Amino acid sequence: MKAVRFHEHGDSSRLCYEDVPDPAAGPGEIVVRVQACALNFLDVWQRRGLPGVRIPLPHISGSDIAGTVAEIGAGVQFVKSGDKVLVNPGLSCMHCPSCYEGNDNRCREYSVLGNFSDGGYAELVKVPAVNALPYPEGLQFAEAAAIPLVFMTAWHMLVTRCGLKAGEVVLVLGGGSGVGSAAIQIARMHHARVIATAGTDAKLEKALSLGADHVINHSRQKIRDVVRDLTGKRGVDIVFEHVGAATWQDSVSCLARHGRLVTCGVTTGYEVQLDLRHLFAKEISLIGSYMGAKHELLQVLNHVRTGLLKPVVSAVLPLREAARAQTMLENREHFGKIVLAAG
Ligand SMILES: [Zn+2]
Repeated sequence: MKAVRFHEHGDSSRLCYEDVPDPAAGPGEIVVRVQACALNFLDVWQRRGLPGVRIPLPHISGSDIAGTVAEIGAGVQFVKSGDKVLVNPGLSCMHCPSCYEGNDNRCREYSVLGNFSDGGYAELVKVPAVNALPYPEGLQFAEAAAIPLVFMTAWHMLVTRCGLKAGEVVLVLGGGSGVGSAAIQIARMHHARVIATAGTDAKLEKALSLGADHVINHSRQKIRDVVRDLTGKRGVDIVFEHVGAATWQDSVSCLARHGRLVTCGVTTGYEVQLDLRHLFAKEISLIGSYMGAKHELLQVLNHVRTGLLKPVVSAVLPLREAARAQTMLENREHFGKIVLAAG
């Protein structure tokens, strides 16, 4: 098969479109013919390389996969060859207390498909059969692939970790990112008041069309000043954070008393400063969030079915142009998801 791999860490020129042996389905596994694979910033971190994180090389990235079942391993009975599937990107042991409790993202063996295992930047990918979700009918493959990781992450952050309530004010940083565009919609459907930031006016327009009540152009406005004005100096109940170092000070300053800051990532750097006086005096909660559980992804898919949540596809590129796609992601040229398609 053809796949996009990197043999060493570095910039996007390290991504090679090349011939790779076909994967074979073992017991309990299936091979999916990838019709679409959405990019995540995780892919960029993998390619760049992180200190202390050793990924087996050469590596095929790609966590968000929609396609058709190409091969069935022994003992798999609930999907058949040719079925359309959407792949749950969470891999877990299925038998520990966390998995039994429905918190598979807390499993000690939890990992994301395409992180330490080969992923979907390929014509074929091998996955556990239990990760094959019923296909969300009515969606193109690129739209389906744009759903799992960002929507389950944003749902877990806002609904599960923060306990978002109607009427609360949510500041969504990077509203044009995949996870940001999901967060705007999830906050909106919970009747929150949504303030979204983005770096261009075109992205702000799109954020408004997704349901944001207010927008801030962070390239020419100071986030904390605008939030202060919009909230009558009160601040917001929840800061939806995934940017990291570049926005950290603004994020903490924007919180109302008793506010929660929830973070799932650090696209601009992971070392930040924290004035503990603000933490205790304002009774702030800093909340970490990692992916989401299977039942949360199912809830998301139910809301996609009813039209309350919609995948946001920014661009679809052929698999062989994965390097250009990752460069677009790094340059923030997108609104929503960038997707690689077969062919
Ligand atoms: Zn487990």
